[in-house]
Amino acid sequence: MVPTLYIVIPCYNEQEVLPITAPMFLNKIKQLVSEGKITEDSRVLFVNDGSKDGTWEIIRGLAEADRHFIGISQSRNRGHQNAVLAGLMEAKERCDVTVSIDCDGQDDINAVDRMLDAYAEGCEVVYGVRSSRETDSFFKRSTAQGFYRFLSGMGAEVVYNHADYRLISSRVLREFEGFREVNLFLRGMIPLVGFKSTTVEYARTERLAGESKYPLKKMLALAVDGVTSLSVKPLRLITGFGVVVALISFIGCLWALITALCGNAVQGWASMTCIVCFVGGVQLICLGIIGEYVGKIYMETKQRPRYIISERTWEEEK
Ligand code: UDP
Ligand code: MG
Repeated sequence: MVPTLYIVIPCYNEQEVLPITAPMFLNKIKQLVSEGKITEDSRVLFVNDGSKDGTWEIIRGLAEADRHFIGISQSRNRGHQNAVLAGLMEAKERCDVTVSIDCDGQDDINAVDRMLDAYAEGCEVVYGVRSSRETDSFFKRSTAQGFYRFLSGMGAEVVYNHADYRLISSRVLREFEGFREVNLFLRGMIPLVGFKSTTVEYARTERLAGESKYPLKKMLALAVDGVTSLSVKPLRLITGFGVVVALISFIGCLWALITALCGNAVQGWASMTCIVCFVGGVQLICLGIIGEYVGKIYMETKQRPRYIISERTWEEEK
């Protein structure tokens, strides 16, 4: 059976790049339709993530110009992960298979052909994996690699060098709907759904226009979110660390006792200060880690909606 494909594209302040990349997505849909790999009902679904520039106007214009383009708009900026989720949830009842991809042209859209081949062979999830990062700046490359190492070291299983370029079948998405958490880290959550999966390599190029919306600050926040959403390993690490510090303290106590018995009790001001500062710092870090989880629990218990769609291009057509 020929599947219906929805390409889900989050867009935040992307008015410079959208006019360049939108035709690339459309051409891909048309090429795949003509090859008989997807149905004529396939669409490019843009998700406007509360952009402050003309992005939504551009999306509306595209939707008027070609029926393969459709768009939804979030009521405000909620971040990349929520935008992708909104698009996937919107798409899942209308299609058989979705591909999520960034709108800046960095991820090679031609990899979709191979993703669809893998889907035809029975894979329900196909992860796009970057084969090279040569075009990224040294800084971006090393921070991104550090990001994956940090995640796996902290017990959050993610596919190495995979961002949010992936094919997911609507069957997997329907199961994924049951994952109700508000702290989203899609690339770590999708593998938890299971089903047969594979990876497809592609070369990542430079952004075609505009600027990255992921500065270092957001990358760090995503890394912390990823770890605390997926794993409790940091909590175990601080327990282990506490045991080590307690053992060292025991040696310190012995030393203090022996020094006192030798009659040198007044000495040791420097060591005392160091220990107090060190242990105080360690305790604050541990409290911070626990606090991070408490904050997560707080947000989860509120059960706020994960996205709110304020506009759709197709409602206006009615
Ligand atoms: N994005 C979004 N909401 C945000 C930030 C980013 O929807 O708050 C989208 C953005 O439009 C792009 C994708 O997420 O399609 C990835 O962002 P970007 O290319 O800036 O990140 P980078 O590739 O530099 O990591
Ligand atoms: Mg990008």
